Amino acid sequence: MLKVNLRHLEEKGIRLRGELPVAELDLTVHDELVLAEKPLAYDLAVELLHDSVLVTGSLRLPLECECARCLKKFTTDLTLAGWALHLPLQGEDQVSVVNDCVDLTPFIREDILLDFPQHPLCKPDCGGLKVKTARKAKAVETLAPDPWAKLDKLKLK
Ligand SMILES: [Zn+2]
Repeated sequence: MLKVNLRHLEEKGIRLRGELPVAELDLTVHDELVLAEKPLAYDLAVELLHDSVLVTGSLRLPLECECARCLKKFTTDLTLAGWALHLPLQGEDQVSVVNDCVDLTPFIREDILLDFPQHPLCKPDCGGLKVKTARKAKAVETLAPDPWAKLDKLKLK
């Protein structure tokens, strides 16, 4: 778990850098096209503000994907470069503090999941399985009724 000890923040902010095993992130994603097996890399600055904790920095999670269009396997990084997290220490939304520590893991999990690719593509303009889709498109074209042909028939009557 990625925890911050508030006592360590009292004098000055701290920097957290390292890797979090993906198992601890507990991403319950059942997506056959996207696999997360490598650890999440984090580089975060943590500061204690008046009545809250501010976390800023970057998160990077390597993903192994299968293109939703052409089924090619590829790797990509889910990167949250300007990630910022504001954790109130007072009031209704106050974060839970256990033994002076705040666990950042659930907040990281939430934001990683929000950014998780729903429809991974090997490249933005992936044409998919080209031959098949081209044929399909043509078939649809020839089957579509031609409005001018109908009009001609009407004129003949
Ligand atoms: Zn593709």
